[in-house]
Amino acid sequence: MPLAYPTIALVRADSVSVPRTTLARAPSWTPGGTLLDRRARPLHDVRISVTDRCNFRCSYCMPKDVFHKDYPYLPHSALLSFEEITRLARQFLALGVRKIRLTGGEPLLRKNLEVLVEQLSGLRTLEGQAPDLTLTTNGALLARKAKALRAAGLQRITVSLDGLDDAVFRAMNDVDFPVADVLRGIEAAQAAGLGPIKVNMVVKRGCNEDEIVPMARHFRGSGVVLRFIEYMDVGASNGWRMDEVLPSAQVLARLQDAFALLPLPANAAGETAQRWGYADAQGRHDASAGEIGLISSVSQAFCGDCNRARLSTEGQLYLCLFASQGHDLRTLLRTGASDAELAAAIAHIWQGRDDRYSELRGALPDTGGARRRVEMSYIGG
Ligand code: SAM
Ligand code: SF4
Ligand code: SF4
Repeated sequence: MPLAYPTIALVRADSVSVPRTTLARAPSWTPGGTLLDRRARPLHDVRISVTDRCNFRCSYCMPKDVFHKDYPYLPHSALLSFEEITRLARQFLALGVRKIRLTGGEPLLRKNLEVLVEQLSGLRTLEGQAPDLTLTTNGALLARKAKALRAAGLQRITVSLDGLDDAVFRAMNDVDFPVADVLRGIEAAQAAGLGPIKVNMVVKRGCNEDEIVPMARHFRGSGVVLRFIEYMDVGASNGWRMDEVLPSAQVLARLQDAFALLPLPANAAGETAQRWGYADAQGRHDASAGEIGLISSVSQAFCGDCNRARLSTEGQLYLCLFASQGHDLRTLLRTGASDAELAAAIAHIWQGRDDRYSELRGALPDTGGARRRVEMSYIGG
C-alpha cells in the first residue's frame, strides 16, 4: 500500500520528506524483483540534474526576466556531491535502472564533471552491464570537454540545437551565442567517439519553424539523429501557450514535402521519439542517410510507457516532468541512511507513482498559466 505523503506546493524545490521510520515496512518490492509503479511501469531511466545554472536563457526554459542576475540559484552546499550522486545511482541500478542521463541546467558548467562520469561509468546494472550513460548539453562548452568526457567513460551525448541560422539561434538562446560554436562542439563529440549523437530541436511556432527543413538537410547522412520536440508547458515561467506549439504532425508534413520518409519501429519500450527513416529510390530505409525523430509530448502523450525518474540538483526525486513536488532523498543521505534504506525509499516512492500529466493535460482545469510546477532547469530535462 503506498503511503500518503503530506503535500506542500513550491515552484522550485517543493519536497516531501521520506520518513525513515516507515521504510522498513513500506515496500513490497524485493531485491531482484521487478519494480513497478501503480500503472505497472518499470523504472528504467534516471535523469540526474547536476546544476540549476545555465549559460543560455532559452525563452521556453529559463526566460531572462525570471532567471536574471539576482535569481536565487542553489548554494553549492545544497547540491548533491559526486559521491552522493554515485551512491544514489548505485541504488537506482540495483532497482533495475539501465540508463543514466546527466542534465541540468547546463551540466557542462558543473566543475570537474568528468570525475562524476568516471564514477558512474564504473557502476553496473543488475545484469552486470555498464549503465547506458549519456548527457544532454546545449553544446556551448562541448568542443572543449568532449575528449575528457569520452575518456572518463561517457558513451554518447545529446545536444540541444534550435536552428542553424545564426540570428535565429542567437535569439533562441537569448545570450547571443553563435551557432558555429555549437556545431564545432558536435564535431568534437563525433571526433571523440561519443555516439550515436542526438540533436534535439525544440520547435516553437513563430520562432524557429523555418529551421525544420534546413536542420534535417544539415544532419541527413551525418550519423547524427535529429529529433524535433514539441514546445511543452513545463515549469511556471515560460508563459507557454498552446498556439505556440507546432504539433509533430505539422513538422512531419513539412519534412515530407522535402524528403521521402518512412516510419521505423521503436528501438525500445518507453522510447519517446517516433522514428522516421530517409527512404532510398526503392522506398526502403537508406541507413546511410539516417533517421529523424518526433517527440510529441503535447499532441500525443506517451505517459503509458514512461519509465523515467528525475533526481534534482539537490537530491529531490521527481516522478514526472510536470510534478510540483519531489521526494527528499538528500536528507536520507545526510542523516545516515544505509544503502538498503535508500533503495527501499526509492522503491517505495516509485511504487506509489501514478503520474500521467500529459495524458490528462487537456482535461485539467485552465489555471491561466499559474499552475505551480517545478522548473525544467532545476529538475533536469
Ligand atoms: N542545458 C541542457 C540542454 O539544453 O540540452 C540540458 C538541460 S535542458 C532543460 C534539457 C532539454 O530540455 C533540452 O533539449 C531543451 O531543449 C529541453 N526543453 C527545455 N524547456 C523545454 C520546453 N518548454 N519544451 C520542450 N523542451 C524543453
Ligand atoms: Fe539552458 Fe538547456 Fe534550459 Fe536552454 S534548455 S536555458 S540551454 S537548461
Ligand atoms: Fe512521464 Fe510525466 Fe511526461 Fe507523462 S507527463 S511522459 S508521466 S514525465
